[in-house]
Amino acid sequence: MAAVWAENSYCQRRQVGALIVKDKMIISDGYNGTPSGFENNCEDETGATKAYVLHAEANAITKIACSNNNSKGATLYVTASPCIECAKLIIQAGIKRVVYSEKYRLTEGIELLERANIEIVYIGKEE
Ligand SMILES: [Zn+2]
Repeated sequence: MAAVWAENSYCQRRQVGALIVKDKMIISDGYNGTPSGFENNCEDETGATKAYVLHAEANAITKIACSNNNSKGATLYVTASPCIECAKLIIQAGIKRVVYSEKYRLTEGIELLERANIEIVYIGKEE
């Protein structure tokens, strides 16, 4: 489902989707993109990703901050391995388990999650 959600992203360079599940219910979702109310395109004229584009995990986590729910003890499903910036948010959001399907060359995000004793599950992408 996170992979299907990634297809909603307007970003050209990379599309990432995330879902947050708690008590067997999807409590949030996100894909990489600009903040609410901003233009949808993620890249500038040179094709570079704009500095204010949020990652899928950040969008899913901050969406909960705008809701009456909370992510304590939840599982995050994400199509790509989290970067270090998102890893910090995942830890502070009280998420206890991260399931991802695409490895990234930088592993510092995953290493940080491991240090925080967050359960990490890698599942290969189905083609
Ligand atoms: Zn990130």
